[in-house]
Amino acid sequence: MTEGPMLFSEPNTIDEAITQLAADDGAKCFSGGATLVAMLNAGLVQPTRLVSLANIAELQGIAVTPDGRVRIGAMTSHATVARDRRLVGGLGLVREAAAQIAHPAIRNMGTIGGAVAHADPSSDYPGALMAAGAEVEIACPHGRRTCAIDDLFVDYLTSALEPGEVITGVVVPAPMPGERSAYVKFSRVDGDYATVSVGVRLTWADDACAAIRIAVGSCGPVPIRVPDAERSLVGTRLDDDALRSAAQAYVDATDPIDDLRGTAEYRLMLIPGLIERAVRGALAGLPGASA
Ligand SMILES: Cc1cc2nc3c(=O)[nH]c(=O)nc-3n(C[C@H](O)[C@H](O)[C@H](O)COP(=O)(O)OP(=O)(O)OC[C@H]3O[C@@H](n4cnc5c(N)ncnc54)[C@H](O)[C@@H]3O)c2cc1C
Repeated sequence: MTEGPMLFSEPNTIDEAITQLAADDGAKCFSGGATLVAMLNAGLVQPTRLVSLANIAELQGIAVTPDGRVRIGAMTSHATVARDRRLVGGLGLVREAAAQIAHPAIRNMGTIGGAVAHADPSSDYPGALMAAGAEVEIACPHGRRTCAIDDLFVDYLTSALEPGEVITGVVVPAPMPGERSAYVKFSRVDGDYATVSVGVRLTWADDACAAIRIAVGSCGPVPIRVPDAERSLVGTRLDDDALRSAAQAYVDATDPIDDLRGTAEYRLMLIPGLIERAVRGALAGLPGASA
């Protein structure tokens, strides 16, 4: 147990936050508290200080950068992302993932930075952001760095963040013409974590798939992409045979566990149908596509 009171601070800048985290090994940053408060209540963590990120302006809101990328500040709530109508086409899956997180109270409280930092493979953003090809902006004691989202997730509840580092934002590549996306979540009941989830971002050009990223979540310690399977779909019309063989490669690559949301066997059975549903959902309405 922590000796003495747990301290709470509300810095106004990221530099102050980094300084406060560096000064105290037992300090943790505090975003919405959606997960952290539950962990505190359960005695799973005993920080000596909570460094709230709520007053730091650069962590707030969604902006389109001059080159068309979309930057989502780390403190942006799931509800705000779910409402943002700029997240369409190739970026629509980010909005769809946010909209399917838990229920309204959690969506108002939880933040994209906290969700990504927590690195729970059953949560919705990790797989959706991997399919979207996002990058994570990180502030460190010695400056700033970025990390491809594929490299951020290391293991169950373990990210590549070093102690004292803070996620400042998530940047999603600019939407391109012909791009579409979808996020599909299968859960036991509405509002639960996913038993299996699938995010897809693809480009449709000249009557065929020109590029595709597929990430499967909740089926192992980190969301899974299978680049060979993605490549096998490029140049096809994403017909049933092509999708079936790509989906089998995902089944072979995943290593799910049995838990209260489903057995490993059940999860493996769900993957092909959910990949197909996500791809067909992404293609829906595209002239000439076999949706
Ligand atoms: C009842 C319930 C149901 C939920 N259901 C779902 C669901 O269906 N799908 C889903 O995806 N999620 C779900 N969640 C999780 C929810 O999405 C949280 O938003 C998410 O876990 C992060 O919460 P937060 O932003 O409030 O971060 P906090 O709880 O404040 O922090 C979480 C952790 O991340 C660290 N941290 C926070 N922000 C940063 C940062 N910017 N940089 C570095 N580290 C940081 C904290 O130190 C802490 O360790 C659920 C949570 C609850 C309580």
